Amino acid sequence: MSDKLIVVAGAGGFIGGSLVASLRQRGCSHIRAVDVKSLDHWYQKFDNVENLCLDLNKKDNCEIAAKGAAEIYNLACNMGGMGFIEKNKALCMLSVLINTHMLMAARKYGVERYFYSSSACVYNGDLQHTSDDGDRFTPPALKEADAYPALAEDGYGWEKLFSERMCRHFREDFGLHTRVARFHNIYGPWGTWFGGREKAPAAICRKVIEAKLKGKHEIEIWGNGHQTRSFMYIDDCLKGIDMIMNSDIIEPLNLGSNEAVSVNQLVDIVEDIAGIKLKRKYDLDAPKGVNGRNSDNTLIQQLLGWEPSITLRHGLEKTYAWILEQYQLRESGAEGVVREIEE
Ligand code: NAD
Repeated sequence: MSDKLIVVAGAGGFIGGSLVASLRQRGCSHIRAVDVKSLDHWYQKFDNVENLCLDLNKKDNCEIAAKGAAEIYNLACNMGGMGFIEKNKALCMLSVLINTHMLMAARKYGVERYFYSSSACVYNGDLQHTSDDGDRFTPPALKEADAYPALAEDGYGWEKLFSERMCRHFREDFGLHTRVARFHNIYGPWGTWFGGREKAPAAICRKVIEAKLKGKHEIEIWGNGHQTRSFMYIDDCLKGIDMIMNSDIIEPLNLGSNEAVSVNQLVDIVEDIAGIKLKRKYDLDAPKGVNGRNSDNTLIQQLLGWEPSITLRHGLEKTYAWILEQYQLRESGAEGVVREIEE
């Protein structure tokens, strides 16, 4: 049980909301949750948490958020899946204001530890455009050193790489204890599943549910379905954040599953969960990102003796069930479920 103040920025979003839930479960009694969205759009909100709606692009608001905090977890970012980041590069890069102002505020108020959520999109794109030989393609496992020489994902990836370095220099020059994890595609309940910002696992669950419920046995897939990724279930992500934040590891560390699958294989699993087989239509002009990548977990294994291990099948079963529930609620005219817990 800890009563020191912990701040979660981006708490109205998928990972931030789940982190607040997890911190509460671990006995943290003093949490400040901050997001730019109005409270009724937060995925999860909790009664005994100080919930603040603030635009963290602004320095003054970051100071309001950071004042009195012992720890800050910065998960606030203007982001989405490939459909969003390929078309909104300037907006993605503007998130640099959030992390910069949060770091400045953390320094000002003597915050003890600061966590920054980076991304696999920082990795050099040239390492991920290898030849496509269909579903047998083995994607490159990216190790931490592969971020340099830098050729990050345009827009979003460059912002993440720059912000990582900003954390490093605040640590080196100002003594702020920063920790950085490079997330590889996180999925799970309480995340974005429609509207254009959703990522592949949620989008595919929604499309399969829609096809099944509407009796239109067809699914549209972005790209040729051979793109390969690894996907990490939210519970592994939360465990990894906790271990990295409380470790002495000062360099950015991969936090991702190394169970790589092609988008076709992802669809196979979701179809199997739904008990349905769909005709696949491939949209070759849709945003599809790099050909393939996986998380090289050698370093996290070495340093923490742990790596994410929840299987994609297991995580997708839970995610599918949650999206199905949300879908049916929306169809019935009700708002989606927001988890509100009162003590
Ligand atoms: P999310 O979009 O669900 O949550 C981000 C939250 O930040 C949103 O609720 C949004 O309203 C908030 N936000 C945006 N601009 C803000 C501002 N100016 N002030 C305050 N709040 C603001 O995304 P997520 O999936 O929970 O991602 C959390 C973090 O993890 C982000 O930094 C993201 O880049 C990183 N990440 C996520 C993934 C993934 O697969 N989900 C992968 C790599 C990295």
